[in-house]
Amino acid sequence: MHPNGLGSTGKGVSVTPQVLILGGTGEARQLAAHLVGRGVRVTSSLAGRVSRPQLPEGEVRVGGFGGIDGLADWLRREEVRAVVDATHPFARTMSEHAARATAATGTPVLALRRRPWQPVPGDDWRPVSSLEDAAALLPDLGDRILLTTGRQELAHFAALRDQHFVIRTVEPPEPPLPPHVTTLLSRGPFTTDGELELLREHRIDAVVTKNSGGTMTTAKLTAARELGLPVVMVQRPPVPEVPEVGTVEEAVERLGVTVTSPGTGGE
Ligand code: NAP
Repeated sequence: MHPNGLGSTGKGVSVTPQVLILGGTGEARQLAAHLVGRGVRVTSSLAGRVSRPQLPEGEVRVGGFGGIDGLADWLRREEVRAVVDATHPFARTMSEHAARATAATGTPVLALRRRPWQPVPGDDWRPVSSLEDAAALLPDLGDRILLTTGRQELAHFAALRDQHFVIRTVEPPEPPLPPHVTTLLSRGPFTTDGELELLREHRIDAVVTKNSGGTMTTAKLTAARELGLPVVMVQRPPVPEVPEVGTVEEAVERLGVTVTSPGTGGE
């Protein structure tokens, strides 16, 4: 990020630069709202995977850019002054493309990535580095599994024929799926009481999740701890080395815009 941010004097933004926010997260929406509220021209970009996305304030574009070159062209054409990569911590390809396209065009870039969850006493986490490794652990962890790793890449679990999976996603899960499945469609935030009820009702033996961070989906971790259930925790993929902040407030500050109210994490 440019040391002078977006041209702020410390009292607010004096110009109307275009900021591109690569979104798909609650933080991206909160950042868009913060910047739009301060007169910054913001375009949020969504991948277009969700049929009824929660739309951020400001301008919105939907769909891929066509790789690194496509994004670089877009940055030049739209005269983008700064890019904020606020994609989900597991959206590895988009983050890589953002790093390369901004390097190619000389556009300042900032990554907004919520900090990963950390285990606390009483947690029984089983860290793994991929969904494939998560699937390999499951035969030893019980018969009934709560899977909260998203609607894609469930093929890794498809060969597990002896276990029953409760798959919770925002949109219907993409096949191939394991043969024994209950699908629950819902979007957080979730409560600890609700998660305890879910784990008990479905007689869950183990939970599988990505280490997404944020506050919207931490209740399942608390509930698993209370019931003494193991949590298979998929660790984050490596990310490109670009300047990084962990909160919306820090991002606003780095962009050189005055902060007025805090935001919280979300999916
Ligand atoms: P990905 O694997 O990193 O990206 C694959 C391709 O999708 C990218 O090369 C790009 O296409 C397009 N794309 C991704 N994010 C985009 C965005 N914000 N705007 C425009 N194009 C985008 O991404 P993913 O893991 O499939 O995630 C897709 C979106 O869902 C992301 O925006 C992410 O924030 C959100 N999300 C992901 C997860 C997760 O667990 N992965 C969870 C919650 C939300 P081109 O190469 O054509 O530009």
